[in-house]
Amino acid sequence: MLLLKKDRPSGPYDVVVIGSGLGGMTAANMLARQGHKVLLLEAHNKLGGLATWFRRPDGKIFDVSLHGFPAGMIKTCRRYWNKEIADRIVRIKKVRFKNPQFDLDTDFTEEDYKRILREKFGLTREVAQGFFDALREMNFYDRPETTIGELFNNFFPGRNDIVRFLLEPITYANGSTLEDPAIAYGIVFSNFMNKGVYIFQGGTDLMIELMKAELLKNGVDIKLHSEVEKILVENRQVTGVRIAGDEIKARAVLSNAHLISTIFKLVGQEHFSPTFTKIAQAIRPNTSSCQVYMGFKQGESIPYMGDLIFCSKAQQFSTEMLLNPAVEGQTFSFYYPEMRAENGGVYSVVSSSNARYEDWTNLSTEDYRARKQHLIDRALHDLEELVPGVRSKIDFTEAATPLTLERFTRHPMGASFGTKFEGLEASKKLSEEISGLYHAGSVGIIMSGWLGAANYGAIQSHAVDTYLTKQTGVAHDTIS
Ligand SMILES: Cc1cc2nc3c(=O)[nH]c(=O)nc-3n(C[C@H](O)[C@H](O)[C@H](O)COP(=O)(O)OP(=O)(O)OC[C@H]3O[C@@H](n4cnc5c(N)ncnc54)[C@H](O)[C@@H]3O)c2cc1C
Repeated sequence: MLLLKKDRPSGPYDVVVIGSGLGGMTAANMLARQGHKVLLLEAHNKLGGLATWFRRPDGKIFDVSLHGFPAGMIKTCRRYWNKEIADRIVRIKKVRFKNPQFDLDTDFTEEDYKRILREKFGLTREVAQGFFDALREMNFYDRPETTIGELFNNFFPGRNDIVRFLLEPITYANGSTLEDPAIAYGIVFSNFMNKGVYIFQGGTDLMIELMKAELLKNGVDIKLHSEVEKILVENRQVTGVRIAGDEIKARAVLSNAHLISTIFKLVGQEHFSPTFTKIAQAIRPNTSSCQVYMGFKQGESIPYMGDLIFCSKAQQFSTEMLLNPAVEGQTFSFYYPEMRAENGGVYSVVSSSNARYEDWTNLSTEDYRARKQHLIDRALHDLEELVPGVRSKIDFTEAATPLTLERFTRHPMGASFGTKFEGLEASKKLSEEISGLYHAGSVGIIMSGWLGAANYGAIQSHAVDTYLTKQTGVAHDTIS
């Protein structure tokens, strides 16, 4: 049931899910399917978390995080959602790189990458194949000893151009740096490389609408505008949550809020053991990002340019270059009318760049505005180089910064992709510290992005189901 603002959820619930990002929604859906009484609470006025969109005058709709995800999302949506959602996932056709070291197109499959490594970068077949074999052999549970930088150095010593080709999309996607564990890169990259890059046909708004319908069909109680203030804990056992002073009883709580907020704000350090607190204090939020949304005048068009263009000006590649506020690199996502054909469809382009929260805080209002304007001007300037004449076709621009992300999701430091690698271990340990407390949301690079967050939601729903079943002794269907 969709609860109204004035409604008071009538607990007790088997599970309260805090947050409706893809992790939270997938967990809620699975738990309801397994027969549990589920309440999904979302602080914002719509479901989706970072999987979101916004509307502006003139029928313009912008997707915030629909730039691309791996093929695995089809299976995930079919299993944990429904066929209608899975069937709308389509592959994008062309990804382009444009920088002083190379200008090339790829369909972002392993075969094409190996071809380019041989033909454009002069590698032997054995080295190109060896690199992909090494990625495939990486095990999720391996100790994260080797760094991404060391991995590249083993295969391509001194080849900054190859590092750029292999790492730039992943750094854009999740803020990975050369110092991060190679395993985080290996799993994310080989996921993407498997069968190309995919998006949701119809836009994020349609996907979330279909997911909402599925949640309601499965009996989830949903309440928007409901920021959870506290997760209630007694004697290291979850008892419920508090919103707007009201307590709602629950046997289990699954938080989709950022892991750091879940531990330190929603639960409170006093409820955890000193050993866990030490682990939790070492969790680093992932980096944030800036976007520029550019909308086209009605009736204007541009030729097909590809779907994603990784565009950077720096002579040499470094992850620092992508994070730098001077922003020498950005990714353009092109949305063509077919994306939302039902709506009559217009063109839009979104520029994304990684960003550090600290570069955007403590600015005067004037400086903040000037920085945002700089982002917009730079995006328009670089887009004009790619598509001459495009400036005059654009009649809407808007910039978002790490502060925008923080405001809309409450994620510390506006993290776009949850936490760095160490977050995964802490997230999984929560239920060992406090009975009935679980977390599902972007953590550890691997369990982030649309696919990672949704999969983690399903994995954690299984853990919650097992916990609840043990309590009642009633077995439910498990996820397959
Ligand atoms: C600009 C940008 C571009 C991206 N592009 C891509 C992409 O192309 N491909 C891709 O795969 N991934 C992309 N991502 C990442 C991806 O969107 C996220 O990793 C994923 O959607 C996060 O899902 P989540 O389950 O972790 O929850 P989130 O989306 O982080 O949602 C958490 C939810 O919890 C709610 N919440 C928090 N605290 C409370 C509280 N106390 N009470 C109630 N509710 C609360 C928030 O309001 C929010 O709705 C992008 C991210 C950003 C920011």
